[in-house]
Amino acid sequence: MTFIQLENISCVYNGVISALADVSLSISEGETVALLGPSGSGKSTLLNLIAGYETATSGVLKIAGKSIAEWNKDTFRRELIGFLFQQFHLLDHLSAVRNVELALFPTCKDANQRHLKSSRLLKEVGLLNRLNVQTKYLSGGERQRVAFCRSIVNKPRLLLADEPTGNLDSASSETLLKTLSEYISSHQGTMIVATHDTEVAKICSRVIYLEDGKAVSQ
Ligand code: ADP
Repeated sequence: MTFIQLENISCVYNGVISALADVSLSISEGETVALLGPSGSGKSTLLNLIAGYETATSGVLKIAGKSIAEWNKDTFRRELIGFLFQQFHLLDHLSAVRNVELALFPTCKDANQRHLKSSRLLKEVGLLNRLNVQTKYLSGGERQRVAFCRSIVNKPRLLLADEPTGNLDSASSETLLKTLSEYISSHQGTMIVATHDTEVAKICSRVIYLEDGKAVSQ
């Protein structure tokens, strides 16, 4: 069943920069998709449109049969979508566990439960001994794993990841890859990852190549 539907989506910045040009594609629930393509080919723009951070200039974008405007804003952000950023975007003065707990704040009223769920997830990704460390003192790879936990703690139906290994050294990339791979095999969720990294593409069930804002092959 189609989960994400793009019909003739174009995105033009400042009236002149064509980031996406007439892209049509559909993604089924449970698919894991790598968006590959050179820098500037429109990968982040596509993710940002699906996440509702950007609006298309023209075309139709539907998620689970509804346009983003039709989704309840809170449900969309908290339960439908999880976003993993290349730059982590953690609150550096807070501990690893607090960063993850904060994402649970709107959906889980019980502080003990928030703590339990967050620490369990962090433990699963090998950060048990880092729970109470401020994230500014963590390595890049550790920070990305905290950011990963934050992005999935609300069990989103769709995980979007923008160059998740882009800022990591090769050992940390490998650990994150293992984490993503385990996530894929233990959840039925859909995932779309924008990446340059062919190793990331290998753990996905489908690859979409973008070039100059167009989906050139799938
Ligand atoms: P990729 O993720 O493949 O590197 P992007 O989606 O970031 O590609 O960028 C596609 C094109 O859109 C590039 O030419 C980029 O400079 C431009 N672009 C992206 N975001 C913006 C923005 N907010 N304002 C203006 N131009 C942008």
